[in-house]
Amino acid sequence: MKLIRFGPPGQEKPGLQLPGGARIDVSAFGQDYTEQFFGSGGLNRLRQWLALHEKECPVIPPGARLGCCIARPSKLICIGLNYARHAAESGMEVPKEPVIFFKATSALCGPDDDLVIPRGSEKTDWEVELAVVIGKRASYVSEAEALDYVAGYALHNDYSEHAFQLERGGQWVKGKSADTFAPLGPFMATKDEIPDPHQLRLWLKLNGETMQDSTTADFVFNIPQVVSYLSQFMSLLPGDVISTGTPSGVGMGLKPPRYLRPGDVVELGIDGLGTARQRAVAWGSH
Ligand code: ZN
Repeated sequence: MKLIRFGPPGQEKPGLQLPGGARIDVSAFGQDYTEQFFGSGGLNRLRQWLALHEKECPVIPPGARLGCCIARPSKLICIGLNYARHAAESGMEVPKEPVIFFKATSALCGPDDDLVIPRGSEKTDWEVELAVVIGKRASYVSEAEALDYVAGYALHNDYSEHAFQLERGGQWVKGKSADTFAPLGPFMATKDEIPDPHQLRLWLKLNGETMQDSTTADFVFNIPQVVSYLSQFMSLLPGDVISTGTPSGVGMGLKPPRYLRPGDVVELGIDGLGTARQRAVAWGSH
């Protein structure tokens, strides 16, 4: 299944994208895609409900806004420097253990929402990433069992303000958390739809020009390693999102560096997980 949420910001309803591409409203199912949904067998219940009720579900108009594909999770955790060439372009070593940082969950937004460049920003940058959605509570899980704890996958753009992140002291979270810095979707594909998450092409274009074009085969730490590793330090809850890091081709790595300005258009995609498009706008202009 491909889970979507649609409607105005803050009033999104749950929906599904069907194999033919049509989008249907499943709010009659009675539950949004929350921690409680994932933690109570929601995907299986929804599948069973759909078998009986698909015909009655209203079709969503093609122009409807898509929101973040899951309801706001308890955590949005990111892995830094998880592709060797990206670590090199960032002037950093490939880490011996995964680099972990948080992004504020209030940064989550829809896949085609405008990117609002934060007030005072000079160095807002793009980062196409594969995001993993957790399906059940994970604490001290082994790598061998880690994929049992995954509900599905989604396309994520880990927007980053590198001056806030790297030049202002303290943790990376300051440069990762502005509103609209985490467009997630268009949909969350359930695990069964992505047979091998370690063989996915991911790409990003800026104003039509390819900037990032890589594959998740190049991960430094793969998904079982990352899920198991994180679960040694915290409980991962149903619906939590783990973003697995970006490949090379970010603006900071260009010579000279290139950062986003109002009017820029960012398009991105991952095999099997759809595409997204964000237009950059100045803070205060929207
Ligand atoms: Zn990132």
